[in-house]
Amino acid sequence: MPDNILEEVFVKRSQQKKKTSPLNYKERWFILTQEKLAYYDYDSEKGQKRKGLKGSVDLEKVKCVETVLPEPNAPLERQYAFQIIYDEGPLYIFAKNEDIRTLWLKNLKELVRFNKDLMQKYHPCFWVDGAWLCCQQEVKQAMGCKPILDPKNGITTSRRASRKPLPPTPTEEKASRPLPPQPPEPPAPSPSMTVIAMYDYVPTTAQDLELRKNEEYTILEKSDLNWWKARDAYGKEGYIPNNYVVEAEKGLEKHNWYSKNMNRSQAEQLLKSENKDGGFMVRDSSKAGKYTVSLLTKASGEITGSCRHYNICTTPQGQFYLAEKHHFNTIPELINYHQHNAAGMVSRLKHIVSNRPRPPSTAGLGYGVWEIDPRDLTFIKELGNGQFGVVKYGKWQGQHDVAIKMIKEGSMSEDDFIEEAKIMMKLRHENLVQLYGVCTKQRPIYIVTEFLANGCLLSYLKEGLTQHPTPVQLLEMCKDVAEGMTYLEEHQYIHRDLAARNCLVDANGTVKVTDFGLSRYVLDDEYTSSAGSKFPVRWSPPEVLLYCKFSSKSDIWAYGVLMWEVYTLGKLPYERFNNTEIVDQVARGYRLFRPQLANEKVYNIMQSCWADKPDERPTFQELALNVQDLLYELQ
Ligand code: ADP
Ligand code: MG
Repeated sequence: MPDNILEEVFVKRSQQKKKTSPLNYKERWFILTQEKLAYYDYDSEKGQKRKGLKGSVDLEKVKCVETVLPEPNAPLERQYAFQIIYDEGPLYIFAKNEDIRTLWLKNLKELVRFNKDLMQKYHPCFWVDGAWLCCQQEVKQAMGCKPILDPKNGITTSRRASRKPLPPTPTEEKASRPLPPQPPEPPAPSPSMTVIAMYDYVPTTAQDLELRKNEEYTILEKSDLNWWKARDAYGKEGYIPNNYVVEAEKGLEKHNWYSKNMNRSQAEQLLKSENKDGGFMVRDSSKAGKYTVSLLTKASGEITGSCRHYNICTTPQGQFYLAEKHHFNTIPELINYHQHNAAGMVSRLKHIVSNRPRPPSTAGLGYGVWEIDPRDLTFIKELGNGQFGVVKYGKWQGQHDVAIKMIKEGSMSEDDFIEEAKIMMKLRHENLVQLYGVCTKQRPIYIVTEFLANGCLLSYLKEGLTQHPTPVQLLEMCKDVAEGMTYLEEHQYIHRDLAARNCLVDANGTVKVTDFGLSRYVLDDEYTSSAGSKFPVRWSPPEVLLYCKFSSKSDIWAYGVLMWEVYTLGKLPYERFNNTEIVDQVARGYRLFRPQLANEKVYNIMQSCWADKPDERPTFQELALNVQDLLYELQ
């Protein structure tokens, strides 16, 4: 038996040797020896290896070993790809993380470095549907479009290669189709990406780098989705949360007057809380890619001001304006002008109102940290009691707000959850409650998440909104949830228990989805069996009730019910029916009625989620756009 150099379970993409064979991704057990890379059947459920040899590559025949940029919207398990090119074309393999990928690339490159036909150029992106995503050439054998930089041994790490992009090669220029947009978030950065810190960041681990607001940093590595390696002006290097920085020169984020992700009602709330005449901010318009200036004015003698919202318009030449005659090349120039001149508005822009001082949540509490030391937690008060036991509000390291779920023993299949938590930590979106980490070295184990001051959406709907909620407020809640869910859908992550009780509301009124995927780890038959008394029957589509078939489309059904909860201010769906009756009625086509606060258009959206056939329901991306359109009509 030859000595094994490395062994690992990877996801392998099918090689599509025949044009018609479908593309699929399977887990395989890979073994690397001096001569061969062989892969075997792998049964992930039983953790069983080596049932049968599925294929192998003679290392002698390998022409290139390189990384591959992830496809746009690739799920988390397909972020760290590499390719092995040999006679039969590329073999695509996906590693679990950057470290494993680097290790395998290093070993493979070492083994093939004296091969005869090493390639000088390769394709940095995938071959998909008859074309290379990088250069759009349509012949699988077409020469690579990106040079491999180290001619001495024909190979180098892609990271070094990517630091020096070369001018396009003639093949690229001749390409029949236009070049595709760059895939988002490539694992290696452009040569000298400079970013500016929008917030201070105090390192929480020795590997982190301190960020000082408004200072510049050079990005060295983007191999983690949320934490980038950066260097400061003094040469110090470390990891930073990438949502604390903005690319220099680009983006409005570096301006204090820009409040990203702030909607109309939140803007009004903030402007009114400051209540300064001429208080203003620039925010994202409800129309994607556009901006709105929100401004508060007070007529003389008035105690409370009123808000106006002006859309920033664009001329056909791409210039910006608020008042017809004054056009500017950039939004900062436009704002600067109107800080001094009202020019058509009710007032000039006198005072910047910003929600900036509160930095956003990071993915985890430091780079690579998912195990939290319980001694760093202080418990302040009890927030509630849930399926897994008590939830408390507290501080991490004495200063960061956190919510801590203390998992009652016997209520969760803990080992499986702890594995999953590593994936959950990487999910990051402003409308998802961020998982910061877990304490697993003691019992009960803790789940530590972002804290949201306004608590559970269901109670917020029932009690929180004492004054009548406006149509904009209700729709904005739905939009927040749709956006968080679009992110989960893009990452092929199924929630399985979406409902108003599993959404939380932050201090600004933004709604965030929580507890995604958690139901898989509940140990309680009443909750997990569709016949159980705690099963979310009222939020479940027929295919879940009948065959337990969960999918993003069953989440869509639940979203329709959640919208109904929002528009009834927290009523129990199918109030008059018990679970057995609901299963029966829903299968017969009975649906929830139109809530009084919902107009026909809103109700149409809900109903689209309750199509009998899962395929006929919209996607979350479509839902988010539909809700956005309605919001735009209201503004
Ligand atoms: P479980 O999902 O384990 O059933 P919940 O998440 O429903 O438990 O938590 C119980 C209660 O604790 C919620 O209704 C809510 O009021 C409060 N809570 C939970 N998580 C948070 C959080 N991150 N921020 C603020 N309040 C929270
Ligand atoms: Mg919950």
